[in-house]
Amino acid sequence: MIIAGKTTFEDLPRLCPILSRKTNRQYGDAPVRVVEVRGVRFGADRPVVIAGPCAVESRAQTLDLASAVKQTGADMLRGGAFKPRTSPHEFQGLGLEGLKILCEASQLTGLPVVTEVMDTRLVEQVAEYADMLQIGSRNMQCYPLLVEVGRTHKPVLLKRGMAATLVEWLGAAEYIAKEGNLDIVLCERGIKGFPGGEYSRYSLDLSIIQAIREETFLPVIVDPSHATGVAAMVEPASRAAVEFGADGLLIEVASGRGIVPAPKCDAAQAIDPEQLQSIVEFAHAHQPRVAQCK
Ligand code: PEP
Ligand code: MN
Repeated sequence: MIIAGKTTFEDLPRLCPILSRKTNRQYGDAPVRVVEVRGVRFGADRPVVIAGPCAVESRAQTLDLASAVKQTGADMLRGGAFKPRTSPHEFQGLGLEGLKILCEASQLTGLPVVTEVMDTRLVEQVAEYADMLQIGSRNMQCYPLLVEVGRTHKPVLLKRGMAATLVEWLGAAEYIAKEGNLDIVLCERGIKGFPGGEYSRYSLDLSIIQAIREETFLPVIVDPSHATGVAAMVEPASRAAVEFGADGLLIEVASGRGIVPAPKCDAAQAIDPEQLQSIVEFAHAHQPRVAQCK
């Protein structure tokens, strides 16, 4: 039976000629093409740790957390200025004000910053303030947005759609690459599976790391925070991801000082800076054992 729209690994060279190892031999058998974000190198010698709040909620909260993140030895700062929320009545992020706060936090700490862009009309504005543009899980297949970030010269963090196959994910990355921007880092952040939400937020799909290595040369990092949705699972999931060969981690933190209110989004998955420090030490001590590519 022939099924319309069905794709498999065999279709990748035709669908993704720029990003498939089989068609683009430019990088030879090198396991990963290094992506550099203001001196931070994904796919190079050691896993990169990106950390910060889920959302930029205030200047004090962000600057406070940014300096705590810096002290742990993490490599990059994260934080959402534009938040994709399930309900339009929930906190949507501070927008432009949030971008300015992130930029200040980045300057104060020296950490490059990644933040999500959700709207094609705002790509230029977000690119003015951020070192790396994040495409969120919900927008992985927003093709006009992918084209627009592809036209910038900013590195892109492309999260996996929560129900996306590898072919769909790499197809999304190909839209960015087709515009001439190959500085793409993939981010596995958990997928909807059975039994979704019963004991973890999503299902962390670490096996895809090996498949990515075989099919493409893009670096891949793991987001244990959104994947599990449970603070106590973030450290073990981070260690597992590093053992699986991830090129980095994206982690949500909240201040452990107790003087700030609980985060407005994703409080249950936020870890404190002390836990982050232990993850950073583990990740940075890890010697990559990258599997040989076929
Ligand atoms: C995020 O990282 O801020 C986020 C919203 O994650 P995701 O798009 O993976 O849900
Ligand atoms: Mn979040």
